[in-house]
Amino acid sequence: APVIVAIDGPSGTGKSSTSKAVAAKLGLRYLDTGAQYRALTWWMLSHGTDVDDPAAVAAAAGRPDIVSGTDPAAPTITADGADASGPIRTKEVTAAVSAVSAVPEVRERITALQRAIATEAPGGIVVEGRDIGTTVLPDADLKVFLTASPEARAARRSGELKGAEATDLAATRAALLQRDTADSSRKTSPLKKADDAVEVDTTDLTLEQVIECVVTLVED
Ligand code: C5P
Repeated sequence: APVIVAIDGPSGTGKSSTSKAVAAKLGLRYLDTGAQYRALTWWMLSHGTDVDDPAAVAAAAGRPDIVSGTDPAAPTITADGADASGPIRTKEVTAAVSAVSAVPEVRERITALQRAIATEAPGGIVVEGRDIGTTVLPDADLKVFLTASPEARAARRSGELKGAEATDLAATRAALLQRDTADSSRKTSPLKKADDAVEVDTTDLTLEQVIECVVTLVED
């Protein structure tokens, strides 16, 4: 039967790198659910939706077509056919995405897309996000919850940013903690470890060690 792996946790824990590598090693598909929320947010920002108005966000939630390519070696994301992979990583999208993803109509829509993709994935899939083990795929074969100290997470995130954005570690740390607080405290499907998830603290592990640990958990 197809293998379904859910990988959740806050930002900067290595979720994306780990999930892609595990999927590639095991011949599974890969879905970055954060990219879906980011693509919808990008579309709203570029189509005049007031992202601070939950009613406006709810009204726009169903408008763009959001399509994810699930090859772990080259994942893609489009909004109404436009390549969103670059713009979804901008500061503007990162600052707005928690508010957009807290709106129930947004979560309903994106959750339905995620379930359809996971169900149709030939051979199985690794799905990474915040609420995959708790809400999107509660029957996943394996649930992993990645954690790391705030310092480790800020340092990793800062390493991913380019140029001027990377230099201010304190600002990176503050923005990251603010987003996690928002994601953990929203009413609908907050960031939360599922009761049956395996928690892996990545603070003192290399990426290779985390990948090996998850691969072993899948194979057991
Ligand atoms: O994983 P990433 O940092 O790209 O996710 C961006 C944002 O999308 C998160 O901060 C969160 O607000 C939202 N998100 C979510 N549920 C998921 C994945 C992401 O609410 N399953």
